[in-house]
Amino acid sequence: MRIACLVKPVPDPEYYNRISIDPVRGILTRAGIPVVMNPTDRHALEEAIRIKEKMGGEVVIFSMAPDDAGGILKDGLAMGADEAYLLSDRAFAGADTLATSYTLAKAIEQFGPFDIILAGNESADGSTSQVPPQVGVWLSMPSLAGIIRMEYGESFRVWCDVEEGRVEYEVTPPVVFAVKRGINTPRYIGIKGIMAAKSKKVSIIRVGDISVDLDRIGLNGSPTRAGRIVVPDIGRKGETITGSPGEIAEGIIEGLRKAGVIKEGMI
Ligand SMILES: Cc1cc2nc3c(=O)[nH]c(=O)nc-3n(C[C@H](O)[C@H](O)[C@H](O)COP(=O)(O)OP(=O)(O)OC[C@H]3O[C@@H](n4cnc5c(N)ncnc54)[C@H](O)[C@@H]3O)c2cc1C
Repeated sequence: MRIACLVKPVPDPEYYNRISIDPVRGILTRAGIPVVMNPTDRHALEEAIRIKEKMGGEVVIFSMAPDDAGGILKDGLAMGADEAYLLSDRAFAGADTLATSYTLAKAIEQFGPFDIILAGNESADGSTSQVPPQVGVWLSMPSLAGIIRMEYGESFRVWCDVEEGRVEYEVTPPVVFAVKRGINTPRYIGIKGIMAAKSKKVSIIRVGDISVDLDRIGLNGSPTRAGRIVVPDIGRKGETITGSPGEIAEGIIEGLRKAGVIKEGMI
């Protein structure tokens, strides 16, 4: 069983207060902010390694990100992945989800074939959930998203969260799976894993290393145009209510009434 796992580096949530908007270009300024492995992708990787441990095979990480993301991929190798490809080239920059998924799919095709592609259900920053199903479309593979539980044997039984409940599927690879965080608890990276990762490879893939249509990558291949980006004026104000628990509750209700959140006679 060959499993490709998609891992996206995202800005470290500890530093979110340092992300700003460039007022001229209308894009996010993330320079100097450390990156971490997208939290959901850690769960995707854990599931990929569990499948490998049960069924044999190998887990290969694919990531499209700048060169400095290599450390995150090393973490993935320390968790138990076998190999990692980092797609990093100025030609890939400015990609929207379509160009991102195309580039990832072409690399997966080149270094494949793979039976399963495992991804996080959404990234912590862009959070569109578009990349995994789009990769499926580029590779003509079916995809399932919102996966909260999986069982594997001859076929895969997969439980997906949907708005009104949960749907159970039975599928046979090749298939793309996008998993949610509740699916498992990612393993702790121990010293043994860190030592093992030293002999594993992170291969940097430049644009010339994969067979891509240059009109489909980076900004050229991105039909999405970001509109005006503004910081909403939240204008929060605080008020301290003191007194007995009953007086405080009355004060809260009065405040909600004044703000028009609850109407006269509702409580
Ligand atoms: C016009 C435009 C220009 C942009 N320019 C840039 C830019 O210059 N630099 C930049 O960083 N972003 C840029 N972005 C954002 C970029 O498009 C998204 O970060 C990217 O397409 C992933 O989308 P998402 O975060 O919504 O992923 P989702 O679809 O929410 O991610 C779901 C899962 O897909 C996988 N995945 C997603 N992205 C990657 C990846 N890159 N590598 C491996 N796996 C992945 C992960 O498993 C992830 O959990 C741009 C967006 C637009 C619209």
